Amino acid sequence: MYLRDEKLPFDGMHEECGVFGVYSPETRDIAHTVYYGLYALQHRGQESAGIAVSYANKIHYYKGMGLVPEVFANGRLQELPEGDIAIGHVRYSTTGASSLLNAQPIVFTGKCGKMALAHNGNLTNTKQLREELIADNAVFQTSIDSEVIALLINKYSDGDIVKGVLAACERIRGAYALVVMTADKLIAVRDPYGIRPLVLGKSLDDTVVASETCALDAVCASYVRDVKPGEVIVVDTQGERSYFMDTSDKRPASCIFEYVYFSRPDSIIDGLSVYAARKEAGRILARNNRIEADLVAGVPDSGLVAARGFSEESGIPFVEALAKNRYVGRTFIQPDQRMRENSVSVKMNALRANIEGKRVIIIDDSIVRGTTSRKIVKMLREGGAKEVHMMASSPVVKHPCHLGIDIETYSQLIGANKSVKEICEYIGADSLTYMSVEQLKESCARCAHGFCTGCFDGNYPYSLEDYQADKLKFE
Ligand code: SF4
Repeated sequence: MYLRDEKLPFDGMHEECGVFGVYSPETRDIAHTVYYGLYALQHRGQESAGIAVSYANKIHYYKGMGLVPEVFANGRLQELPEGDIAIGHVRYSTTGASSLLNAQPIVFTGKCGKMALAHNGNLTNTKQLREELIADNAVFQTSIDSEVIALLINKYSDGDIVKGVLAACERIRGAYALVVMTADKLIAVRDPYGIRPLVLGKSLDDTVVASETCALDAVCASYVRDVKPGEVIVVDTQGERSYFMDTSDKRPASCIFEYVYFSRPDSIIDGLSVYAARKEAGRILARNNRIEADLVAGVPDSGLVAARGFSEESGIPFVEALAKNRYVGRTFIQPDQRMRENSVSVKMNALRANIEGKRVIIIDDSIVRGTTSRKIVKMLREGGAKEVHMMASSPVVKHPCHLGIDIETYSQLIGANKSVKEICEYIGADSLTYMSVEQLKESCARCAHGFCTGCFDGNYPYSLEDYQADKLKFE
């Protein structure tokens, strides 16, 4: 289910999930705080949403399919009790089918009593761990890797949840930003490479953790810091304390695609504004590529910031070339094949008055399958553009992502199967320009971390040996 309607439903890459958690020293209507936090993270997952509240040694929860306001309509939010700890989750599935059964938070009773867990990311050794747990008589109720984490925490906890979390983290590989809740603790965990974002905030005496700072802003919490790679933050009546995994042989490698596309432009990740990174990417594109054009435009919404940066650097006027229909939402999510062909036209339209007879540079954040770019180029030509020069504010996407994004095979990627010249011909543009990996890194140079650039250059932080071979074979 897709809210980010700038891409076709079957085009672009999609973030798997967003997580949110809050600890309050006082019992209050804490579910509303999570609700607004999840609302701000809706772009990270639109298939399902859930909130779990801890109160009086019980965990109350509600999960449903759909967008946050849909799931918690009809009094569902009000039915959740007051509490002092709560976590929430929005989901876009990559492992496990899109179904209510796989919605999160996962809630169960184990060695530490009631527990709930929400996960953003993707493990690379799920299969092996799942088989091991099943051999240990574990029973799985879902098909998602997050349940593997929950059962491992339970297995190793011996009544001490922190011990269980740290031991589980030694076994799991891949990307994970977790919020875990017991009857008396909120725990935030970021994997040893810091692949997915996770931030810590404060709102009066409340402690808040969220996938992005935009969710802190939404609940009037101030940003304190990013959770460090390999850090486990525990919040309870004794205050807040940190534990660390062994990261001595690992370098931070946060997902660079968070800056390109996934995160909201008003978020700050690992010290760098997503907006600033996108604008700098546009500037770098302009500095390195001289194209004679009358105007530069962005594909709404994801290409607009880079287009402004390009305009400022090049002096070529920024002009809106595409009008977006802001009312195309989930009702449009599963068109039939004939409608799919027309879906870009319903979602956006060329602004003929601005582009007729003009040489147009159009910037999109990335080109994944090429279907959207092809339709946009056609739309601009039909709108009267004399020339259409397509630019991507990222490098060629050549490799799948197995760390929490829904591109898992090479066959899905036009950049893995065609040269830039062939892609240009396929999309029908007069020219096609990508950034290099080094240029993209330069646009994010003010980030405090190193990066994962795996989908561009195959340089993943993890070796692929554990990953299910059938998902990565060249098709
Ligand atoms: S492979 Fe690409 S999308 Fe996946 S984590 Fe790395 S940079 Fe992000």
